[in-house]
Amino acid sequence: MDKNDRVNIYKRLAVMGGTFDPIHYGHLVTAEAVRDKFQLEKVLFMPTKNPPHKMNRLTTDAYHRYLMTVLATITNPYFEVSRLEIERSGITYTVDTIRELRKIHGDDAEIYFITGADAILEILTWHNVEELLGMCQFVAATRPGFYGYEMEQKLEEIKSKYGKEIYSIEVPSLAISSTDIRNRIKNNKTIRYLLPESVEHYIRKNGLYVK
Ligand code: ATP
Ligand code: MG
Repeated sequence: MDKNDRVNIYKRLAVMGGTFDPIHYGHLVTAEAVRDKFQLEKVLFMPTKNPPHKMNRLTTDAYHRYLMTVLATITNPYFEVSRLEIERSGITYTVDTIRELRKIHGDDAEIYFITGADAILEILTWHNVEELLGMCQFVAATRPGFYGYEMEQKLEEIKSKYGKEIYSIEVPSLAISSTDIRNRIKNNKTIRYLLPESVEHYIRKNGLYVK
């Protein structure tokens, strides 16, 4: 954390982790839905630095991803962007982040970690998963009316292995992805209405994703 950062203490917060390369309405709608459902004080957007599972693609400079996340969240008073992960050296593990957040916000804070369905399917491969599951609640975003068999199985598996219930929430905008947005830019196709206008301006101004 930067020494100039003001640190606010929250007792009910969620973490929305992601590469946000770029951030889009799928992330924002999901975060807001979770905030509303669990009546949270804040959702911390946490751009990651070197996600171990994304080593095959070079992510855009963390500085750009951080600024796009700030631009995208600026109009929502419940949203905040954290630099915890981009400023930590070495490989990023969620368990370290939650541990750090616990230190800041206290043992009595309720912390929810938001993930898309794709991420929850992989969660058992994450670093120190048992400790992680014991440290916070997980919320998986699913598509309305679609509770995939694979996902159901995974939630069952987590429950029987670790005795841990994972919450799920339906969000309407699950089809949007950063990969699709990057491909659209490369192919000169429109990205309007998939992400905030300010983020689109930032992308164009800095020539991001054109090749
Ligand atoms: P990429 O295509 O580069 O993987 P992405 O769109 O999946 O990008 P990430 O930054 O990888 O975005 O995702 C961060 C988190 O947001 C993950 O938990 C992911 O599952 C979730 N997520 C991504 N897209 C959506 C969406 N449209 N709706 C809800 N959650 C999403
Ligand atoms: Mg992804």
